[in-house]
Amino acid sequence: MSRNISYITGTQLLSFKRRPNVAIIDVRDDERSYDGHIAGSLHFASDSFSDKISKLVQEVKGKDTLVFHCALSQVRGPSCARKLANYLEGIKEDGGIKNICVLERGFNGWEASGQPVCRCNNVPCKEGM
Ligand SMILES: [Zn+2]
Repeated sequence: MSRNISYITGTQLLSFKRRPNVAIIDVRDDERSYDGHIAGSLHFASDSFSDKISKLVQEVKGKDTLVFHCALSQVRGPSCARKLANYLEGIKEDGGIKNICVLERGFNGWEASGQPVCRCNNVPCKEGM
C-alpha cells in the first residue's frame, strides 16, 4: 500500500514541535548554510538524499512523524518525502514512522510568516524551539 504524504502548515508544525516524536528534515542544498534553518531540523541535502536514506532512517529512530521541507516545498521537499515513502515500502520495516508530511511553502514561507529561524552552525542543530 502506498503511503500518503500530507501537507502541513507552519502553524501546525509549531504545535507538532512540542511533541518529542517529530523530526524535521531539511532537504535544501547549500542554502541551509546561509539562510538559516528551523531549529532542531536535520539536514539531508536533496542532491545526495538517495545515498543517505538509510542513514536518515537510523537517525530518526523513535520518531513517528517526519516533516520534510526545502526552500519552497514544491520540488525537492515532496520528491524526497516520496523517496523515503518508497524506500520504507521496499524494506518492509518502517522503524515506527507513521506519518510523512511536507511543510507547505517550505523554509521561505516559514521565515516570511515570522516563525523563528535558527542561525547556529552546529551539525546537527541542537536547538529546541
Ligand atoms: Zn540551529
